[in-house]
Amino acid sequence: MADVVVVGAGLAGLNCALGLQEKGLTVTVLEAADQVGGRVRTDLVDGFRCDHGFQLLNPSYPAVRRYVDLPALDLQPFAAGVAVGGAAGTTTVADPRREPGLIGRSLLSGYVRPLELARLAAWAAPALGSVPRLREGSDTTLAESLDEAGVDGRLRHEILEPFLAGVLASTDGSTSAAFVRLLLRAFLLGTPSLPAAGMAALPEQLAARLAEPVRTGVRVELVSGNSVKTADGELSARAVVVAANPTAGLTTARAPRMKGLSTYWFAADEAPRADKLLVVDGHRNGPILNTAVISNAAPSYAPPGRHLIQATTLWPTEATEAEVRLQLTRLYGRSAGAWELIIRHDIREALPEQPAPLAARQPVALGDNLYVAGDHRDTASIQGALVSGRRAANAVAATLRG
Ligand SMILES: Cc1cc2nc3c(=O)[nH]c(=O)nc-3n(C[C@H](O)[C@H](O)[C@H](O)COP(=O)(O)OP(=O)(O)OC[C@H]3O[C@@H](n4cnc5c(N)ncnc54)[C@H](O)[C@@H]3O)c2cc1C
Repeated sequence: MADVVVVGAGLAGLNCALGLQEKGLTVTVLEAADQVGGRVRTDLVDGFRCDHGFQLLNPSYPAVRRYVDLPALDLQPFAAGVAVGGAAGTTTVADPRREPGLIGRSLLSGYVRPLELARLAAWAAPALGSVPRLREGSDTTLAESLDEAGVDGRLRHEILEPFLAGVLASTDGSTSAAFVRLLLRAFLLGTPSLPAAGMAALPEQLAARLAEPVRTGVRVELVSGNSVKTADGELSARAVVVAANPTAGLTTARAPRMKGLSTYWFAADEAPRADKLLVVDGHRNGPILNTAVISNAAPSYAPPGRHLIQATTLWPTEATEAEVRLQLTRLYGRSAGAWELIIRHDIREALPEQPAPLAARQPVALGDNLYVAGDHRDTASIQGALVSGRRAANAVAATLRG
């Protein structure tokens, strides 16, 4: 009998198991899927690496720096800016510190207006301040917070909001402003990147450090007291940590509303842009939240001589693939009609909602040696999942070790 059974081998479950192992406890991890990673997985299709929904790893996340061997992931960075599609083609707005070569393009973009820029900078300033204050200070929705700060021009409506829509899987401004500032902090301090072997390399690295391999293909049906029931029988332990999707219904912890995303992965013989920028539609003239030529930033994601392009929309959407191709054609200024659709990922439960006020440190101990972990206990991010796993491990170890 292991000291602890962890249910779910997403980032939270894996980092929880590693924390328990570091504290000298024995752990069995049960995972329903045939691979570890949960929401962080990669399909290899005809030589293309297609992550389960477009996502990026931000190397500045404190938990990533602490628990992940970043050099081993061989990160491929995106550019620190966005290309904004509008009526007259795309314009570029980039961070002048990290992309000095794009300063000229940013200044000519028409988006850099002193008053709105100053107000936006004042609004964003707390992002680089104290993290506990961000987590625990007063909070309101993103839309209200920008209104209060007087940020109401093109920078907000044509860049910030379209960019955040893809990051938050939400277009209505109802997300916690504190959570957005925490994300902004990560973007300002680090450059989002993709591991050479795909996002799946992140959970695989964590899983490889476990003394007992994760038992994949084992779905837990019921958690009762200190034992879990699977199709193959029952398993007991001194404590159980449920790091499964909150909607799996294995505990009484409140399940948040989950938001969905769809990503289309296209192959093309020619790259429609040469840069490593994320492209957003300033006028949101179609279903696409963001698109990028992935293989420009991450050449390892496509076979030699070919290119990989992602387009992400909200899920569910009424939009058809033809509408997605039409918007891509507008955004890139070249026809996307003949691009080959490699695969489409519909992630119904991509991100837990993060309403205001932010509740970034929710209890992980449910009583009777039952614990819960997952991004829904902290923040809807890789950072939140890793932190929640470690918080659960610390709570279990504190109890079991008296
Ligand atoms: C499309 C998309 C884009 C994203 N973009 C970003 C981004 O750019 N940056 C960022 O920081 N975050 C991003 N995220 C969020 C991030 O991926 C998640 O916050 C994080 O992976 C959640 O990890 P988790 O361990 O909490 O949950 P999960 O990954 O959901 O893990 C839960 C695990 O439990 C397993 N499980 C469920 N039920 C059972 C059962 N009954 N028995 C056994 N096992 C079970 C599941 O199979 C799964 O492996 C994105 C997510 C998606 C989907």
